[in-house]
Amino acid sequence: MRRLILTDIHGNAEALEGVLDAASGSFDEIVCLGDIVGYGAAPREILQWVREECALVVRGNHDKAVAGLDPMEEFNDMAREAVAWTRAQLSAEDLEWLINLPQGPIERGGADFAHGSPLDEDDYVVSIADAAYLYQFYDRPLCFIGHSHVQGGFCWTGGRVLRLQQPRAHQVESVVALDEAASYLINPGSVGQPRDNDPRAAYAIWDDLKRQVEFRRAGYDVEHAARRIRDAGLPELLADRLVLGR
Ligand code: ZN
Repeated sequence: MRRLILTDIHGNAEALEGVLDAASGSFDEIVCLGDIVGYGAAPREILQWVREECALVVRGNHDKAVAGLDPMEEFNDMAREAVAWTRAQLSAEDLEWLINLPQGPIERGGADFAHGSPLDEDDYVVSIADAAYLYQFYDRPLCFIGHSHVQGGFCWTGGRVLRLQQPRAHQVESVVALDEAASYLINPGSVGQPRDNDPRAAYAIWDDLKRQVEFRRAGYDVEHAARRIRDAGLPELLADRLVLGR
C-alpha cells in the first residue's frame, strides 16, 4: 500500500491543494499526524477535509489547544492569538471532533504514527542527539512524526544515528530506501507552515511493498494563503513566514 503522510497542515487550504494536486494518483490512503488547525486562515475547511478523507489521524498540540485540552504554557503570544481566532471559527461539533482525536503513537500497517516524539506527543525530535536519546527507550523500526515543521528525519543503524536527506531546492523528491536492519524516524515536513527555509508544502509517500519513503515538495499559491491570513486579522508574522518558509 502507498500512504500519503501529512502533518502540520495548520489551516492552510492553498498548501493542501498544492499537495493533493502533486500527489494525485500516487497513494491509496492518507494519514494525518496532527496540527490540523492553528495559524492558517481556513481551519474549518481543513478540519472537514481531514475528517472525511484521512484513514488515521493523531492529534497535535495545536489541535489540543484549540480543543481546550492544553494549558498553552509553551505557546507564544502569536500562537495563542491564532488559537483563540481558530476556536471562534469552529462549530461545537468541530470542537467535539478535535477533543476526541486520539493521542499518538498509533500503529497502522507496521509503522507508528505520532505528532511529536513517540515517547511524548509534545516533545520535538530535531537533533541527532534527540534521536539517539529516544532510541535508548524506543525500538520500533518505523515511526512517522511531525511537530518540528522540518522535513527529513533520522536513521538508527549500527549503534549510531544518521540524518536523512530532504529534497534540495531544485528537487521535488528524494527517496529513502528502508533498510530492514535499521530503524527510522521520518518527518514528512509541514504542509501548511514549513520552517526549513523552503516555502514549498512538504509531504511524504510511504510505500510498504517497495520499502521506501519519498520526501516530496509541492509549490502552491503562497501569496494567496498569506493574503487570507492578513485579511482574517491574524498576526502579520504568520503571513510573512509562509513566504520565507521559516
Ligand atoms: Zn505544527
